Amino acid sequence: MGADFTFYRHGIVFIVSGPSGAGKSTLVEGLMARFPELGLSISYTTRAPRGAETDGREYLFVTTEEFARRRDGDELAEWAEVHGALYGTPRAPLDDAIAAGRDMLLDIDVQGARRLKRVYRDSAVAVMVFPPSWDELERRLRNRRTDDEAAIARRLARAREEADHLPEYDYFIRNADRDDAVAQLIAIVRAERARVSRIVVEPAP
Ligand code: 5GP
Repeated sequence: MGADFTFYRHGIVFIVSGPSGAGKSTLVEGLMARFPELGLSISYTTRAPRGAETDGREYLFVTTEEFARRRDGDELAEWAEVHGALYGTPRAPLDDAIAAGRDMLLDIDVQGARRLKRVYRDSAVAVMVFPPSWDELERRLRNRRTDDEAAIARRLARAREEADHLPEYDYFIRNADRDDAVAQLIAIVRAERARVSRIVVEPAP
């Protein structure tokens, strides 16, 4: 008669970054559809809601004063200024998830990814998503028809800066085909969950 083993796993903080136009949000949607148990981290931001964005769903929309209060109270795991607004990741949901063996998904920029890799080390896995080419990125930005020429130029310049941070990431996904890119993300999640370093085996009695 063999005794049963009990395995525990520490939770993982999955970070997805990439320039606007990389297709990040559709990939995140595809990943959440496959792994509904992934917890989506909701950031604080000082920017105004856009379109149908709802407080508590896409972001926690706060004033600059409230943001500062939470930052100074050490409530944020990281924070950064992006396009002139402040963004920050609440710390408690990440710490709780890691301890409880649940995984979190974060859509944050290169500064946040670098910071969280430092704080959470092996518990953080960072994925960079890029469109297949610079021409394609430009085409996607133009097709969105949300930005004027100056904004498109700013986003392209920022994408080049983001590409410089690639060595700080663990994985790179070239998003030419949505289904293929989602499949790659799923493969990353599955492989990272199987890493021996995250597994704790309860000792045999
Ligand atoms: P948007 O305002 O278009 O939703 O997001 C702008 C940028 O801010 C995106 O690159 C997004 O990944 C990043 N971002 C969103 N939340 C956070 C956060 O909590 N921390 C950091 N560092 N970046 C964030």
